[in-house]
Amino acid sequence: MTTNMLTDVKMPFCPGCGHGIIVKSISKSLEDIGYQPNDVVIVTDIGCAGLVDPLFNTHTVHGLHGRAPALGVGVAMGLNNKNKKVIVIQGDGGATIGLQHILEAARRNINLTLIVFNNLLYGMTGGQISGLSTDKFKSDRDLEPGIPPFDIVRLAHEAGAVSSARVVSPRNFNEYLKKALDAPGFSLIEMASMCTSYAVSKLKELEEYSEEENALTNRRAPVEATFRQTSSLFDRLQGIPRMFGSKIHQRLGIVLAGSAGGGVQSAAMLLAKAGTLSGLHSTMKGEYPVTVGTGFSIAEVILSTEPVHYTGLNKPDVLIIVSEDGLSVAKHLINKNVLVLADDKLDVSQYPEVISMPFVQEAGKRGAALSGLSEWIRRSGMLELQSLVEAIGKHKHGESLLKALFALEKKS
Ligand code: SF4
Repeated sequence: MTTNMLTDVKMPFCPGCGHGIIVKSISKSLEDIGYQPNDVVIVTDIGCAGLVDPLFNTHTVHGLHGRAPALGVGVAMGLNNKNKKVIVIQGDGGATIGLQHILEAARRNINLTLIVFNNLLYGMTGGQISGLSTDKFKSDRDLEPGIPPFDIVRLAHEAGAVSSARVVSPRNFNEYLKKALDAPGFSLIEMASMCTSYAVSKLKELEEYSEEENALTNRRAPVEATFRQTSSLFDRLQGIPRMFGSKIHQRLGIVLAGSAGGGVQSAAMLLAKAGTLSGLHSTMKGEYPVTVGTGFSIAEVILSTEPVHYTGLNKPDVLIIVSEDGLSVAKHLINKNVLVLADDKLDVSQYPEVISMPFVQEAGKRGAALSGLSEWIRRSGMLELQSLVEAIGKHKHGESLLKALFALEKKS
């Protein structure tokens, strides 16, 4: 087992970026305190500061922009172990976006250390100022005159952080970091960092633009996480009883392709439900333009005897196409290994393997996709048609769905 906090992965930052210095300081401070990589969970945010995950040999979890402190709170409370160290890393942009999460963690005195890499701006998105960009930095750029920055150190202190500090000079990084990492409860440390691409390229400049170093403490006992003794949701899962038989013996992918508003998504959902009622694992994914009332609508269903860990479907086994929109987005999937059923009004003459049926004529535009599904089931016998009837159940459009389901019964 390695005792090195850092991996061999190359630092992903621009030349001269200050984040690398902070990463090395965090690693050294953890090692000085005596932590092993497995004792540490690092939760990261979005932005250049959030690129550190692969650099650490510790556990790492990547969060959403501004939300890493909330994620860290969950990890810390779930761990509930004072011998483990939870560290949240975010930039000044993330701290601005998720300020409320920081204040809540401080107010509740959650046992974690939040490290804010303050390079005075949003680096990853091109150098926009953040809520922590200092007055001195902004006035030189004539930005936001008269609007003071958040003092994150003081805010965390006022909210109840056991320890909150700002450190600017790399000479002091380890001393401040060790204090923050050792503090029992919530600690915040704001560390000045150079963004050589958009802010400053010299340490002297960074020191000039940053606020004064500062360290504040509150005397508070760390809050013990309390849990109600409940069983997990998984323990309580009863499972869905198998009601119907199936001839599916492995994984089968079905694609429905039609037009927005044409019942494609609801037909796919009913198929997934019918699969579940037949004792199968089912997934369903839909795709359509943001203008939901026009354009294509395509849905993928996977039915499998094994749990579906990957829901992607590059090569379907069955393809049902019920409109021109559907044909235009799904025609690349047509080949001799796929059973293709298409509405008979579509020009599929170049694909001799396609079976054409009057889905729209017999079941209407909204019922065509479901009609195509029932035709596939009748031909293949993979599921019992009754499983779809059961899936429709008390659906508010149950009557018309059942009509569509049996529209082609006499013609096949
Ligand atoms: S953009 Fe700035 S903060 Fe981001 S890696 Fe480059 S120098 Fe560092």
